[in-house]
Amino acid sequence: MATFRSFIGGQWLDSVSGRTAPNINPANIDDIIGETQLATREEARRAVEVAYEAFHSWKRTPPPARGRIIAKAARLMEDNKEELAKILTREEGKTIGEARGELTRAINVVEFCAGESRRMTGETIPSELPANFAYTVKEPHGVVACITPWNFPVAIPVWKIAPALVAGNTVVFKPATNTPATAVRLTEIFNEAGLPPGVLNLVLGSGSEAGDEILNHPAVKAVSFTGSTETGLKIYAQVAPRGVKVQAEMGGKNPVVVLEDCDMDLAVESTAQGAFGSTGQRCTATSRAIVIDRVADEFVEKIVARAKSFNLGDGSDTNTHIGPSVDEGQFDTVLKYIDIGREDGAVLLCGGKRASGEGLDNGYFVEPTVFDKVTPDMRIAREEIFGPVLSVFRVKDFDEAMAVANDSEFGLSSSVFTNDANNIYRFVDEIETGMTHINSPTTGGEAHIPFGGIKNTGLGAREQGSTSLDFYTELKVVYVDYTGRKREGNLY
Ligand code: ADP
Repeated sequence: MATFRSFIGGQWLDSVSGRTAPNINPANIDDIIGETQLATREEARRAVEVAYEAFHSWKRTPPPARGRIIAKAARLMEDNKEELAKILTREEGKTIGEARGELTRAINVVEFCAGESRRMTGETIPSELPANFAYTVKEPHGVVACITPWNFPVAIPVWKIAPALVAGNTVVFKPATNTPATAVRLTEIFNEAGLPPGVLNLVLGSGSEAGDEILNHPAVKAVSFTGSTETGLKIYAQVAPRGVKVQAEMGGKNPVVVLEDCDMDLAVESTAQGAFGSTGQRCTATSRAIVIDRVADEFVEKIVARAKSFNLGDGSDTNTHIGPSVDEGQFDTVLKYIDIGREDGAVLLCGGKRASGEGLDNGYFVEPTVFDKVTPDMRIAREEIFGPVLSVFRVKDFDEAMAVANDSEFGLSSSVFTNDANNIYRFVDEIETGMTHINSPTTGGEAHIPFGGIKNTGLGAREQGSTSLDFYTELKVVYVDYTGRKREGNLY
């Protein structure tokens, strides 16, 4: 059985707390992967202090030299891709195919960020005065806290850590407590790639204690967070009095709008993939299908047939389509929302309970679930469930579809299914989400394309792509006067 420890100042640290948390395979709770030593508040503080000590020289390392280390980390991730994918499946539960996909995305992100190290450019701007000009340079903040969830425990940490480091910040990385194995392996890889001690530190511990202590440290100048809206907004409020920069990617309640003229089989397949893929544990998962009345019976019949066709099981079995919920807490939350949906009057068409049978009884499996006749006031229409649960809304026309789609505090992703070019562009104009997809699932994204949401989903600059360094850098503006004389006239 493995022991997972924090990594502080280039050393793996035995915590003095004496407190541990088991790392359990959610597909088979008898499979104990290891034990995490939970860091104390002092240990979390120490991680920030060593990151602060390392900042001065890391900031002065030329960006392309920083990028070379990040590029090596990408190569090491590629060399260890299959091992990382297996660890990911075992501790998080997603299928091995999904895990390999996450690794591919993560490696692409790290490669992209390595390239960005050679593009940390600024502007030169002519002055209105003769023999004067101005230019801009990008500078790091200092110590950045990267606080990450369990659902993409490889991709999300690296899409924060890689740009933060390329920009010249040092990092304290606090992953979710239930995915320590991937966090430890990633930290080893970045360290092996050649980061100096203290530049990347890993703190394994609870959010409310270790996470809280990191955030309270005055040396932390920026926080990049992905997780629930509740925690993200709490963190924002906690650090706001110190003027700390916050980037947060939080909840979603992503709609697909299915219009009458769509390719129905495409709409059904894409909705099923978006709703049930990765067990619904994606911030971009499809949770609402908003369907024009006249085609709703056909949509519902087909989506239920598709929901029933998936094989549930251990993600390491290549015949498995859908893995378990990540842990008991998440499993209970999904079942609780299914009860709430029933009580609120939604019509349960399939699923709605714990999955049982061979290979399922020892894991946190929930049957893919479809509710019909959901209305916008119901809790299952408004709150993020993070499980394989789809709510179908029946609407009379395009305008009602848009009203329902936008009736949400969240605004991450969305899709429309139609072949009518006018409706596609009306949808793009009117939909209130940070990302939208035409005739494809709400999920997915690419390393070189910005990712993020609006409303209560997103705070701060977009992650990834051309915007990936924005959050991690400050702009310094430099005025150069080479006249050698004092300025004439009125100054302003
Ligand atoms: P999830 O449902 O994905 O677990 P959370 O928002 O609860 O979402 O957690 C996301 C991350 O935030 C995890 O790493 C968790 O430990 C951390 N976290 C939770 N509460 C706090 C807190 N008060 N301060 C700092 N980090 C926290």
